[in-house]
Amino acid sequence: MTKRLMSLLALILALSLSLPALAYTPGEYEASAKGYIADVVVKVTVDDERITKVEVIKHEETAGISDLAIEKLPEEIVKEQSVALDVVSGATSTSNAILAAAKAALLDAGAKEEDITKAPEKTGNAEPLAYEADVVIVGAGGAGMTAALEAVKSGASVLVLEKTGILGGNTIVAGSALNGTDTPRQKLLTMSDSEMSKIEEALALEPKNDIMKGWQDEIRAALDAYKAEGATYLFDLPALHALQTYVGGDYVADAAVVDAFARGAEQSAVYLEELGTVWVEELTAAVGATWRRSHMPSAEPWGPKGASFVLPQATKAIELGAQVVYEHKADTIIMEDGRAVGVSGLTTEGTPFTAKASSGVIIATGGFGANVEMRMKYNKHWAYLGPEVRTSNVATATGDGIVMAEKAGANLVGMEWIQMLTRADEQDFSASIDNLVFINKEGKRFVREDGRRDEIAGATLSQTDAKIIEITDSHEIERLGGKTYAGFDIEELCQKGIFVKADSVEELAKAFSIDPAVLQQTIDTYNAAVEAGKDEEFGRQVFGNKLDKAPYYGFYAGAQVHHTMGGIQINSKAEVIDTNGQVIPGLYAAGEVTGGIHGANRLGGNAIADIVTFGRIAGQNASAK
Ligand SMILES: Cc1cc2nc3c(=O)[nH]c(=O)nc-3n(C[C@H](O)[C@H](O)[C@H](O)COP(=O)(O)OP(=O)(O)OC[C@H]3O[C@@H](n4cnc5c(N)ncnc54)[C@H](O)[C@@H]3O)c2cc1C
Repeated sequence: MTKRLMSLLALILALSLSLPALAYTPGEYEASAKGYIADVVVKVTVDDERITKVEVIKHEETAGISDLAIEKLPEEIVKEQSVALDVVSGATSTSNAILAAAKAALLDAGAKEEDITKAPEKTGNAEPLAYEADVVIVGAGGAGMTAALEAVKSGASVLVLEKTGILGGNTIVAGSALNGTDTPRQKLLTMSDSEMSKIEEALALEPKNDIMKGWQDEIRAALDAYKAEGATYLFDLPALHALQTYVGGDYVADAAVVDAFARGAEQSAVYLEELGTVWVEELTAAVGATWRRSHMPSAEPWGPKGASFVLPQATKAIELGAQVVYEHKADTIIMEDGRAVGVSGLTTEGTPFTAKASSGVIIATGGFGANVEMRMKYNKHWAYLGPEVRTSNVATATGDGIVMAEKAGANLVGMEWIQMLTRADEQDFSASIDNLVFINKEGKRFVREDGRRDEIAGATLSQTDAKIIEITDSHEIERLGGKTYAGFDIEELCQKGIFVKADSVEELAKAFSIDPAVLQQTIDTYNAAVEAGKDEEFGRQVFGNKLDKAPYYGFYAGAQVHHTMGGIQINSKAEVIDTNGQVIPGLYAAGEVTGGIHGANRLGGNAIADIVTFGRIAGQNASAK
């Protein structure tokens, strides 16, 4: 090769290197991938060398859970020119769907896989972040966002620190029941004889203290008036709710705090309603609730499951100026001269932060159901709560606030009381017990389905393979409008094999390898109990319809760690109490992070009532200078 030709080739090579690479065929491309609920459709726009825009153009993901992923990931794909990004914590399914759909669209646009799957370099912000507000709240779940709304309403500046990328914690996945006395709705229900005997049994109990005696006196007076009126509707009042909560929790709760809880719970149902939660008109008794005062939200307008227990407060609080910062994990309460003045921690990227509070700090970080180490450390009641034991909780329910508060001097109460709940292996139909029957693998009932959660879970654990089958019929499926309370289509779940659907009891029995004659006998005996309003075998008192409307449905269930009753000790003002019984100035706590309300056994539907009630109390008190 001549020298001249070599120089020419070198020039051509240099020119070609300085030209932009033709990475894409310019245009708009769409692709979809399966999200948590349904397909997420993403549109990418590219010019010949860059990704210029990414949009999520269609999805049915849950509001609150998916919001940050939908907002943040498209922007990041453009910024990093890559789909090899971290998922938004707490919104894994939505994040993965967005990334997978964007990747498919980019491959359609002619991208080479290796070009769009290079992980961006992590820079991390070395400069510590510093925030200031009147009220600093740790945890953007139901308790935290209720507290935020109350504090911002009082004129305080409010900062909420959330360790994940989503709102809602365990609250947004909750099974949809809030307990509270609701006389107008209870007037639409007729009280059964068994319900009347439950009240009489509660009144006959030996009072453990003056507060309990006060509840019983109040109930007696109200019951006399009810009888004098000749009433037949479902009797209730906050004192009965308090008494049932206290007795149901084996008297180990703080009665004064239970009193504040039950009186506040009556208003909490109204509070959420005023913020836009729509209650299904008919009250029910959630599993383990003991009384028909469970309010179930309709999926509209906030979305399924527990969306109605957190998004109304969050939406309003943010509208009024509360600031939520995501991916900020608090790990320390800053104490000055014995007063809580803020918190510090690390962002997901590893940047240290401090958040100073001039008025109050509220710990609202939820329970520790997903923290195996803490479960095993504190459990005294269950044989074993190690890693193999499933939990219904979101993975972030790790008890962080309990650890932080203990280090700041807070007293912990009831830590050994860990609730197990018998629930579906994959999906529940309904959060209400009225039309559900529990059978074991031998086709027999083994427990009263409306009983205490610890008794049901304990009984479940002693059945063959510690597995049971929950069954219902078309009365319940029609009542649910063909959707589970979580918003999933029941037909679709049957096709996927998550639920078994059968045209007869015989067919249902065969699907679960049960002797059909045994199951038929079980159903017949149960139906006779519904008709008589009396369950001779197990003493069940809550009945819906007879199980007699085909098709019949069933699914496997087992006992899972569901709720942690113990935590930070508070008083009825949501102030944190130290190990000497004194209030820690500036420090408040609300929600599942606290102890002393549910005692040894939480009634179903009482946790949501707790978070809204004490969220309100904490927000009001922490913002009062
Ligand atoms: C599947 C399921 C169904 C349920 N159904 C019902 C029901 O129908 N009725 C009922 O009464 N109860 C129900 N419960 C219980 C109830 O949902 C919870 O007790 C309640 O929602 C807890 O609310 P919370 O605000 O205290 O905590 P959460 O809602 O869990 O919120 C805590 C928040 O704090 C954040 N956080 C934690 N640590 C940190 C940290 N270090 N820094 C920053 N942020 C942090 C978390 O990420 C989370 O967002 C259910 C629970 C589950 C799991």
